[in-house]
Parts: sequence; structure tokens; C-alpha cells
Amino acid sequence: MQYPLLEINLGNIGKNAVTLGEKCAQWGLSWVAVTKGFCAVPPIVKLLFQKGIRQFADSNLLNLIGIRQLLGEEVELFLIRLPMFSELELLFQYRVIPFVSAVESLEKLNSLAREKNSNQRVVLAVDGGDAREGFMPEELLQTAIAFSNWGSLIIDGISTTVACLNGVLPDRDLVERMVQLRHELQLILKQDQLKLSVGGTTFLALWEREPYPEGVDEVRLGEAFLFGHDISRKKSIPWLEQETFSLWSEVVEVRPKKVKPSAIRGFDAFGRQVDATKESDQPRKQALVAVGLQDIDDSQLWPEDERIRITGATSNYLVLDVEESVSSYQVGQLIKFNVGYGSVLRAFLSPYVRKKYLDL
Ligand SMILES: *Cc1c(COP(=O)(O)O)cnc(C)c1O
Repeated sequence: MQYPLLEINLGNIGKNAVTLGEKCAQWGLSWVAVTKGFCAVPPIVKLLFQKGIRQFADSNLLNLIGIRQLLGEEVELFLIRLPMFSELELLFQYRVIPFVSAVESLEKLNSLAREKNSNQRVVLAVDGGDAREGFMPEELLQTAIAFSNWGSLIIDGISTTVACLNGVLPDRDLVERMVQLRHELQLILKQDQLKLSVGGTTFLALWEREPYPEGVDEVRLGEAFLFGHDISRKKSIPWLEQETFSLWSEVVEVRPKKVKPSAIRGFDAFGRQVDATKESDQPRKQALVAVGLQDIDDSQLWPEDERIRITGATSNYLVLDVEESVSSYQVGQLIKFNVGYGSVLRAFLSPYVRKKYLDL
């Protein structure tokens, strides 16, 4: 076996997908699997398809094109990052439905579809108060008045996303405002069917206790099925599985170490400030493992041996204080970590991290 190695527990990810399907059905919701956290790799995408998922969303068009090629026409694909002009042609070609918040993009998509004697479905992104992407509600209604000029566009519905940028948490008031906005849009567009889509995982908490919010049609989820976790509230979701990903890395040096006291100190390799105040004045047993910031995010990684402390990371190494551990770590030994969203994403992006899929 080669290391570093990301172990992917397909059994638990599959269970989470099934559980979410059942829960969302009880709540009258459909759910869309967000695949950006794992680069939409085929083993996980196929697993989700086997578990009944037919709607996928990603922020990278290349990932969605991959899913289209893998699964064919049975699935609906959403681009949840606002599209670039340079993507519109491919969007159309692969029948991807973009979330849009710019009139310029709507105009271009409309012309493109009209040239091809076809239609283009879109979802209109609305700012839910997190000051991230989306039309402001009043502005959306103004824009909607112009939709009659854009006859080749089909409006699927509206969407809002919170929590990722400024930590704004969703509440019933947000849902009610979105339901009202959808209603006004329906009147302007003279269109009964307009879905309300919300995301991501942070929204699930609204269905934790009754009365459930009404009017939401779909919820877009990544973290929930990947980790059984809600990072916006720093809590696990008790009815989902958390054991889904682990990282194994190999120890390449073990020595008592401390920084030379008279050393002149600058910044680290990433230009970050170095905090020397927490350094011990006695040498402490330190292990280096051969995995670095090119492969993982050191703030989203937790050693399984709870007595190990991560003290730093370079692009090549993760530096561990193993002084307190009861195991006497040796060169060549493996150290296992639990991994969060940021580290899993980076591990999938890194060709240096081997992937091992544990079967169902
Ligand atoms: C990433 C993302 C999601 C999914 O968020 P999770 O917290 O992973 O569930 C949903 N919608 C949009 C627009 C996103 O960018």
C-alpha cells in the first residue's frame, strides 16, 4: 500500500444517502446531492445513483460534464456557482441548469438557446441575507417583468444559500420571505410551477422540530451525506453516519525537537504569522508524517490518537507533537486521522493522495 491514503467508506456514505432520502420524503422535500466536496469522482457518484439520487449539483462545470457522461440523460444537473460567460456554451451542450443572478447572463443564455432553436432552464439565485450571491428580492421582481422578452429561457424556480460566507444561519423567517417572493414571481411570470430550492446542510436543522417550515421543495446537501455533520453549528447530525473518510499517513521522522532560542523569526512558507508564544522551552517528541498542505488542510484534520497534537504543517509535512502519546511512534509507522470537508476536498484534488474505496 502507498501513502498518504484517503479511505472512503462507501457503505456509510450510501447509508446516509438512503436515510436522507427517507427523511426528506417525510418532510415533503426532495434532495439534491452536492458533489463539489469530492470532485464528483465516479465511485461516489455511481453509489449515489444506485441509492436513487437523480439530481446532482456542483460548483464546477467540469464535474457536472463528468456526471453527464457517466450517467446519461436520466439525471438533472445544476451548476450552483454563477456561470461565467465562457461556460455558457458548454452548459447548453451538456444540459446543465445554472443558478443565475446576472441579467447579462440571462440575456446571453436566452440568445444561445434561441440560436439553437431550443430552451435553457435556469434557477434564479436570491440573496438570503448572507451577502453572498443572488439577486436582491426587489430586484428579482423587477427583472422578472422583462422575462417575457427572453422566450427561450425556462425558469425552474428560485434558490437561496446561506451560512458559507458570513455564517448567517437560516430561520423560518427566511423561508417565509422566500415563499412570498416565489408567490410574487409566479404572479408576474404567470407560471404556477416554480420550485424553491435551499442549501446547504445548515437548512436541515429547520426540520429538526415541528412545526416544519412549509413551501420548500428541495434542499441541496453535501456535508450531510458526506460527513453526517453540520459545520455551521459545529455539531453532528445524530441520525446520520459520521465514519465516512479517514486519512492514513506514514511517519518519516521522530525526534525530540525545539526551535533554537536565538533564531531570528520571519513568516512561514505561506506568509502566515508564526505564534511562538505556545512553544515549549524543553525539547518535545515530534513526529513528521509525509502529508502536507498540498494534500490536506491542517485545520480540518484530527488524529485518531487523541494525545497527538498537530503543531504545524508545511507543504510537505504535517508536524505532530507526540510527547503525550502512550504509543512510541517510530519511523515507518502509520498514523490515522479523521478528516473534515476541507481536507477531503484537498485530498481529492491532490494526485499524491491515494484513494481506497471500502465496499458496501
Ligand atoms: C456547497 C453548496 C451547497 C451544499 O452545502 P453543504 O454545506 O455541503 O451541504 C449547496 N448550495 C450551494 C450553492 C453550494 O455552493
